[in-house]
Amino acid sequence: MNKKIAFSAFCLMIILSDCTSKKEGIIMTVNGPIPANQMGITLTHEHILVDFIGADSISEKRWDKSKVQKIVLPYLAQVKELGCKAFVDCTPAYLGRDPHLLKSISDSSGINILTNTGYYGAGNDKYLPRFAFEETEDQIAQRWIEEWDKGIEGTGVKPGFIKIGVANGSLSDLHKKLVIAAARTHLKTGLTIASHTGPSIPAFEELYILRKEGVSPEAFIWVHAQVEKDITTHIKAARMGAWISLDGINDNNLNDYVRMLKNMKENNVLGKVLLSHDAGWYHPGEENGGEYRGYTTLFTKLLPLLRKENFSEKEIHQILVTNPSEAFTIRVRKM
Ligand SMILES: [Zn+2]
Repeated sequence: MNKKIAFSAFCLMIILSDCTSKKEGIIMTVNGPIPANQMGITLTHEHILVDFIGADSISEKRWDKSKVQKIVLPYLAQVKELGCKAFVDCTPAYLGRDPHLLKSISDSSGINILTNTGYYGAGNDKYLPRFAFEETEDQIAQRWIEEWDKGIEGTGVKPGFIKIGVANGSLSDLHKKLVIAAARTHLKTGLTIASHTGPSIPAFEELYILRKEGVSPEAFIWVHAQVEKDITTHIKAARMGAWISLDGINDNNLNDYVRMLKNMKENNVLGKVLLSHDAGWYHPGEENGGEYRGYTTLFTKLLPLLRKENFSEKEIHQILVTNPSEAFTIRVRKM
């Protein structure tokens, strides 16, 4: 009898230690943390609102939150119907990031939304606040770390990742500074770095800087990687550990996405790809928010094509569920 009890206790111990040894991380949504394994099907790069007026003129006064919400909610209801559970909002500060708006849209839609900290240098630095030109890497990182520690601008909403943006050529000193600030913020917070990048030249320069700062490529999402036409570079970056974000799906480029995904699959790096539309969004200053592009093409048009190309349900689950939850888990990833 005693032996039996001892044996059962031993088994229980094994089971418990097995549970705790599995990666358990959390995802930070605008409503606080959720377990990473409950993130579900995720759109990893979309927008609710973007305002291109520039850092000098931007203000939340430029949009009416309840009006925006009314326009956005039907689009989120569409994707919820298709099984989507989480939505990564990639609009950075000074481009219309509005944590209160996102929180209220998340509450009303029942979809988990992630927002971000960081600055966007692409677009000729028009979206960078004045102080970002003068401050050091560490001063900028300190601002981002503070948003993680205390919440964004007094809203209590915490960022779920770092979003930066760099121009599509070789990195300027200013953009190198943003990448270094992102690396240092990552090491203090465990937030993943999503960088609007495009071609492979700046992507590999960013990876070089991150490694020099002691940050693993696993903490880096190469945003708009579909812009790079040499798709062998996707494989190269994925093998280093980086996340390859193919995030511009629309009705007219589905075959390109099939080709890029087949390339990832054939090279055994399907576990490093993220898919999204980079769609939306409410445009402040335009009548009724201008033209709004929905988020359903991935589900209604791309997935059927992938199934035709013999992508298994397991592989689709990997791309839409497992990869996003691993990419956005809060975890320091050192070299
Ligand atoms: Zn975007």
